[in-house]
Amino acid sequence: MGLRTPDQYRAGLRDSRLVYFGGERVKDVTAHPALSLAVEHGVTVFRYAQESPSLFTYAAEDGERCSAYFKIPRNAQDLLDRAALIEETTRRCRSTFNIIKAVGTDALAALLVVAARMDRALGTSHLDRVRAYHRHCAAGDLSMALAQTDVKGDRSLRPHEQPNPDAYVRIVERRAEGIVVRGAKAHTTMAPVVDEIIVIPTRAMGPADSDYAVAFAVRPDTPGVKMVCRTIGDRERSEFDAPISRRNVEIESLTLFEDVLVPWERVFLAGEWEWAGALATTFAQFHRFTGVAYKPPIGDLFVGCAQLVAEWNGVAEASHVREKITRLIQYTETIRACGKAATLDCRVVEGLALPDPVFTNVAKYHFASQFHEAVRLLQDLAGGFAITAPSERDYRNPEVRAELDRYLAGARGVPAEHRLRLFHLIRDLTASDFGGYNLVVTLHGEGSLQTQLLTTYREYDLERPKRLVRAILGIPDV
Ligand SMILES: Cc1cc2nc3c(=O)[nH]c(=O)nc-3n(C[C@H](O)[C@H](O)[C@H](O)COP(=O)(O)OP(=O)(O)OC[C@H]3O[C@@H](n4cnc5c(N)ncnc54)[C@H](O)[C@@H]3O)c2cc1C
Repeated sequence: MGLRTPDQYRAGLRDSRLVYFGGERVKDVTAHPALSLAVEHGVTVFRYAQESPSLFTYAAEDGERCSAYFKIPRNAQDLLDRAALIEETTRRCRSTFNIIKAVGTDALAALLVVAARMDRALGTSHLDRVRAYHRHCAAGDLSMALAQTDVKGDRSLRPHEQPNPDAYVRIVERRAEGIVVRGAKAHTTMAPVVDEIIVIPTRAMGPADSDYAVAFAVRPDTPGVKMVCRTIGDRERSEFDAPISRRNVEIESLTLFEDVLVPWERVFLAGEWEWAGALATTFAQFHRFTGVAYKPPIGDLFVGCAQLVAEWNGVAEASHVREKITRLIQYTETIRACGKAATLDCRVVEGLALPDPVFTNVAKYHFASQFHEAVRLLQDLAGGFAITAPSERDYRNPEVRAELDRYLAGARGVPAEHRLRLFHLIRDLTASDFGGYNLVVTLHGEGSLQTQLLTTYREYDLERPKRLVRAILGIPDV
C-alpha cells in the first residue's frame, strides 16, 4: 500500500471504536472538538513524510517507500538516524512528542529481539508472527499505540496475588482461533486515534503469573475494547494565548479489554512467563532511547525563551541571568550527549542495534529528575507576566490596545505584542494545564524514576571501577 495521506489516516479512524470523553461516547474522533486536536497532531507525521521524504521515509526490502519509523535499526548509524527523525518530528511539532509511529516501532523492535530468543529457547514460532505483523504495519503505513502499564492494584502484590484478578491484563480463555483477554491498561497515549494497539507485559512474571504473560495487537474497533480519555484543558484559548497546546497535544486513555478475542496471528506471547520481563525491559530500553531523542527540542525552547525574555527585559547581561541560562543549556545538551553516546555504544542483539542501556537510562533519569528545576529556572527569568499577561482578546480590544502597547513594550523598543506572545508561550509550556501535564509526563513517561536507577545499577560494569581500586590498593583480582 505504501505511504498514506493525512486524509487516509483520518478516514481510517472513522470506525466503530468505543471512545469516551467528558462523560460521552465519541462517535467520530476526527470531528470531536478536543480529540480532533490529537488527530491533527497525529496527521503531522503523515504530512512530514510527504513534505520531506528523504528524512521521514526509507526504501523497504521490496523497494516500496515506507515511513522511516519502520526501519529496523541494525547499527549505530541507524540509531543516530532514528534519533534525528524523532528529534526533528518533535521540533516540527513545537516540542510535543508525536508517539504514533515511534512507540509502536519501539515495541516491534523489542518483540523482534525477544521472539527470536524465545523461539530458540522454547521451539515456539513467535518470530514469524512478529515479522508478519511488522510488515503489515509498515506496508499499511499504520499508526500505533502501546499499552504496557497495567492498572496494577496493590503495587506490593504480584499479578496472581491481587484481590482483583484483572488488575493486570490476562488470558481468560484459549480457543482454537485465538486467546480471550481481560483487564485494563492505563495512560495509553494516542490509543483513541491510532490504527493499532500493541499490548505487552509491564513487568517480569513468575510461574503462577503465566496467564498474565501476554502480548498481542488489536485494532481499536475490536469488540470488547473501550477507551476512556483524559480531559484536555484550556481549549477556549487562542493560538496566540496557547501557541503549543492549541495545535500539538496527545491524548491518553484508560484502555479496557473486556473479554477481547485476539486471533493467534496477532498473539506474540501467551503464557511464556519467563519472557515477560525480557520483553518489558527490552521495550523500555528502545522506548527510553526514544524519550532521550524527543526531549532536546523542549530544552531548546526553554533556552530560547529564557534568552529572549532576558533580552527583551534588558537583563541579558546580568551574571545571575547568564548563569541560569547556562544551566538550561547544560540540561539540554547533557540529554543530547548521552543520547549520542547511547548510539555509539550500542549492542547488536539478534541483528538489531540496542542503544546502550546505561547512557540511555542516565539520560532519561537526568531529563526527568531535573525537568522541574529547568521549569523553575525559566519561570524565574520570565517574571510574573508568564501567568498574568493579558489575553489576545484584551490585546485586540481597541479600548485598551494603546495602553497595552505603551506599558508592555520591552527593552530597546521590543513591541508589546512580541513580549505577550513570548509570555504566553512560557505559560503554555510551564504553567498551564498543558504545562502541568508536561511536568508529570516527564517524570513518569517511559517509566518512573526508580526504574532508571535500577537499570543503570544492574547494567553498569562495576568490575571495571573495582579493578581500578584493587590496582591502587595492590590487592589482586579474585
Ligand atoms: C502522560 C503519560 C503518558 C503515558 N503513556 C504511556 C503509554 O503510551 N503506554 C503505556 O503503557 N504507559 C504509558 N505511561 C505510563 C508510564 O510508563 C507510567 O506512568 C509509569 O510507568 C508509572 O506507572 P504508574 O503511573 O502506574 O505509577 P505507579 O507505578 O503507581 O508509581 C507511583 C510511585 O510508586 C512507586 N512504585 C510503584 N510500584 C512500586 C513497588 N512495587 N515498590 C516500590 N515502589 C513502587 C514508583 O516508583 C513511583 O514512585 C504514560 C504515563 C503518562 C503520565
